[in-house]
Amino acid sequence: MTLQTVNTKDNTLKRDILDTIKKWDTIIIHRHQRPDPDAIGSQCGLAEIIKASFPDKQVYTAGSDNDSLAFLQKMKQPEKEVYEKALVIVTDTANVKRIDGEHFELAKEWIKIDHHPKDDSYGDIEWVNTAASSCSEMIADLWITFKDELTMSDEAARLLYAGIVGDTNRFLYQATSSYTMQISAALMTFSFSHTALNNRMNVIKPPVAKLMGYVLDKFSINDHGVGHIILTQETLSKMGIEDKDTNGIVSLPGSIEGVLSWGIFVEQVEGHYRCRLRSKGPVINEIAKNHDGGGHPLASGANAMNQEEVEVILAEITDAARNWVPEEEN
Ligand code: AMP
Repeated sequence: MTLQTVNTKDNTLKRDILDTIKKWDTIIIHRHQRPDPDAIGSQCGLAEIIKASFPDKQVYTAGSDNDSLAFLQKMKQPEKEVYEKALVIVTDTANVKRIDGEHFELAKEWIKIDHHPKDDSYGDIEWVNTAASSCSEMIADLWITFKDELTMSDEAARLLYAGIVGDTNRFLYQATSSYTMQISAALMTFSFSHTALNNRMNVIKPPVAKLMGYVLDKFSINDHGVGHIILTQETLSKMGIEDKDTNGIVSLPGSIEGVLSWGIFVEQVEGHYRCRLRSKGPVINEIAKNHDGGGHPLASGANAMNQEEVEVILAEITDAARNWVPEEEN
């Protein structure tokens, strides 16, 4: 099987990235706040590839640890002083505001590797590929492009596979391409149990199972296929749920017949609402951008100051759904 890499512009950027990695003895890798498997997978997967390829380099992973993703990896945090002599690479993060961790601005050289739309340019080298299913796919693609110079380890393969599975929702989302499947197949040739990993990723805590029932019961859908639920702090605390546990329920409404786009609005301790927006057609990231957010065309996040702003966001999504023409009708 021949694995095809993408276009020449990307290949030049990838060459620059590898040459820059080779130049530095110390490398710190960051990713976005509120990490998901792709954030940790791309960050720690890249760290493992660098360690396996260049054993003399010092490689750190920065950002807060997330208990529910500890089965992937825990961070190896650098001290502040390390930044002045380090290369910083940020994976899976569209804007500087969302980079998790501190001190990254002290680094002399930065690289951004990301698959989100380029809303905020940063980094001396910026490799953005919005056609990639996940940032983990891009990291695996970097390895495939330079197979003679980079070494994939079993642990790196496990982490990158987890990132791809996470961001494609088990290869279901539109961004899953034949190249995603080829890359995943190449990763599966390494020694890790994809069954154990998938089973672990499918595990939900009992309170999250209860939350699923609550969401399905209370979810409301309007005439244009736009659904929503508001999760108040009171509801969350009654169920023993924290904001980060809502990861387990975000994709759930997508399987309800008639639902085209939806929002899960999670009240925060400070009083505003985290808006987790998803869609099966109408583009929602421009709406998210107007409300202190951003993200992918069909999976975005935003912030609403209060319930009035939640209503405005829902009205805007409803407009997008009303004007949306399904692909087969184009
Ligand atoms: P989430 O609902 O947090 O899983 O986010 C879905 C997508 O939107 C991810 O690709 C996030 O990186 C992006 N996203 C979420 N919140 C924001 C935000 N406040 N600003 C920019 N992008 C965001």
